[in-house]
Amino acid sequence: MTRIPGLPVSPGVAWGPAALMLQRHPAMRCGIAAANVERELGRLDRAREASASQLRAIYARVAQRAGADLASLFEAQLLMLDDALLVPRARRIVESDRVNAEWALDRAFDQFCAVFADVGDEYLRERRGDVADVVGRLRRNLRPAASGGVRVLADLAAPAILVADELAPSFAAQIDPAMILGVAFETGSRTHHSAILARSLGIPAVAGAALVTMHIRPGTFVLVDGDAGEVVIDPTPELVEEARARRGKRAASAGLTHGQPAGPALTADGVAVRFQANIERLEEVEAARAAGAEGIGLFRSEFLLGGRAVDAFDEEAQYGVYRDLAERMAPHPVTIRTFDIDEAQASGRAGSEQAEGSRARGPMGLRAIRLSLGHREAFEMQLRALARAGRHGAIRVLLPFVSSVDELREARAAVRSATRDVERTGQAEAAMPVGVMIEVPSAALTVDLLAAEADFFSIGTNDLIQFCLAVDRADGRVAGLFDPLHPAILRVIRQVIRLARPRGRQVALCGEMAADPGALLLLLGLGVTEFSMSPAAIPEARDLVRRVTMGEVRRAAARAGSLPTSTDIAALLAARFPALASWPLGRDGRPHMEGHS
Ligand code: PEP
Ligand code: MG
Repeated sequence: MTRIPGLPVSPGVAWGPAALMLQRHPAMRCGIAAANVERELGRLDRAREASASQLRAIYARVAQRAGADLASLFEAQLLMLDDALLVPRARRIVESDRVNAEWALDRAFDQFCAVFADVGDEYLRERRGDVADVVGRLRRNLRPAASGGVRVLADLAAPAILVADELAPSFAAQIDPAMILGVAFETGSRTHHSAILARSLGIPAVAGAALVTMHIRPGTFVLVDGDAGEVVIDPTPELVEEARARRGKRAASAGLTHGQPAGPALTADGVAVRFQANIERLEEVEAARAAGAEGIGLFRSEFLLGGRAVDAFDEEAQYGVYRDLAERMAPHPVTIRTFDIDEAQASGRAGSEQAEGSRARGPMGLRAIRLSLGHREAFEMQLRALARAGRHGAIRVLLPFVSSVDELREARAAVRSATRDVERTGQAEAAMPVGVMIEVPSAALTVDLLAAEADFFSIGTNDLIQFCLAVDRADGRVAGLFDPLHPAILRVIRQVIRLARPRGRQVALCGEMAADPGALLLLLGLGVTEFSMSPAAIPEARDLVRRVTMGEVRRAAARAGSLPTSTDIAALLAARFPALASWPLGRDGRPHMEGHS
């Protein structure tokens, strides 16, 4: 039995055989059934044929333009393609190890490199670059358009635990909870979109489990403990029994919580607090309604893309989804955030080398509204679909990652233009409200200026915290520094509320911070009375709010404002609100372990 620590990002415990997915490595290793060996061999052969015909064409072109000498390079690459150490070797690996073609090809290449590393001849050693070029071509021909991850899911013969080095949200969105029992991945943190998705799917998950993929082979028996934040390899039968008992208790207490009546949440002194739902998939509407959500406060529309390029998702298809959402949530409003994606996702290459580049550049690049304004056609297509769907319910548009008034103006002009287009066909209703996500510090500090042109605001604490504290939310190594109770975060939120108030603009909060009960009370004390959170978190949050008065939470927030550290602030909350100690969800929104022992 080996224990690998990580971050508890989605509660619960699950166990089963591992399905392994390696994304950071150009190839993913997945075990295949005997019946699929022929299929993988066929893929290798077709990739070889495609590569050969591409190389012949390149050879002819270069020979014509630059002469036979230079072209001979590609003649050599054609010969390498048939080297016994590459494709034929990869074929044998597929047959003997029962693995996918990509993985076999990479192993063959590794072995090839190992042989050449020992060769004294410098010329031969340098040919390694050419071989890498040939292997790269074969890889591309093996998996056009980064569909590999989806195949891991499609190929599963039985429910499994997904163990990955990296888990792209577009991939996580395609997980079927009936087949994936739990998830463990090496990167990420609680606010990583794949972690948020795991929670909304109710799948136990551990992020930041360093090097977990090094210890696990496809089929290894693993246990994912999303409460403790641990991956256990080959757990003992006693541990599995303990986990089974814990799962039983959780199911019983979930039944109790969800039996509560919905309706408006009033604090003990009668102030109304509104709870809406954050969702990523249309199917979650039912969970939102069942939890008593008074609308959708955040629909992360980019999950609809499911790995497709942004312009491959046409207006009709989008309109259908938005309309469905609006109708199913009626009479409540549905707030749809325009695509919050980066360049790699926009071009449908989330699992590719380009995505590798996007990740390396971090979260501050060309993404969200910046990208939409540069892809005006795709942006207006989404806005037209939204304007049309607006006839069937109360749709609001939410713009992600706005950092200046100029950006907001440009985006509003696009909304006007799209609405006019739709009106011309006689389909649009009154203009849709346009809101701004407050998740970039520059927006937080200029809310008064943005308020002149925005209809509402929604504070996205996941990004706001990452940018205020300079903590990449996708980087598990700094997850401990992602601190929602940091005094700077309280100050910035207080400032947003102050700046928005004179204009009478509504300010909701849709980040994960509100799923922490202590933070929820603090936010209430700072003046936030509208929250959007995952449907599963709503019943308990509503219940908590009913037990406090605005006076108490305001006083606690005022005192917290003078405290120097988040530890002091957490201690203050614990002292002022003893009920938090017995609350089913502890700090970070995960269950207190003692509640399940
Ligand atoms: C946020 O940044 O807080 C937010 C809600 O948006 P996302 O998590 O999708 O970035
Ligand atoms: Mg965000």
